[in-house]
Amino acid sequence: MIKSEPIERHVVYRTNQNTDMHLIPAKIHEVQEDRSYILDGIVSKAPKTITGGHIIFELSENGAAIECVAFEPTKGFRGIIRELREGDEVTVFGSVKDKTVNLEKIRINSLNVQELRNPICCGKRMKSMGKGQGKRCEKCGAVSKEQVNEIVPRRISQGFYEVPPCARRHLAKPIIRYS
Ligand SMILES: [Zn+2]
Repeated sequence: MIKSEPIERHVVYRTNQNTDMHLIPAKIHEVQEDRSYILDGIVSKAPKTITGGHIIFELSENGAAIECVAFEPTKGFRGIIRELREGDEVTVFGSVKDKTVNLEKIRINSLNVQELRNPICCGKRMKSMGKGQGKRCEKCGAVSKEQVNEIVPRRISQGFYEVPPCARRHLAKPIIRYS
């Protein structure tokens, strides 16, 4: 609706903004300080909240491990990170400082929904009788050697997650630009 003067000239800029140009696909054991990476791995230590509201977990791949952190300014993104569990398979995106990946994005490739637990008997969970000695039902005295695999309910889904725009680097490619 706005009528402007006739266009005199125009120019197209080439930019690396929103391209992920800074990210190098690599293995954890290859990681160097002050570079940015895409790393595959398995959550090997569950997330914990540290002073300042940052959330940290350990990622492992082929015997190498690195800590990953979602800093407080990443706000709601931390809610996803907090829900990760040991055994989850993820791909992390971010820069490395002090041997720690500063998370910009994460792709959750698979969620570990299995957990080994003592079996249930007489409506209660059997109690361990000591290391390597099996479990016993406190009510009926039944003994079981095996633990059972149970399904753990998860509050997050597989998928791609990114920090909010207020915490995003200008180089970071927004997920909406992935096809
Ligand atoms: Zn029983």
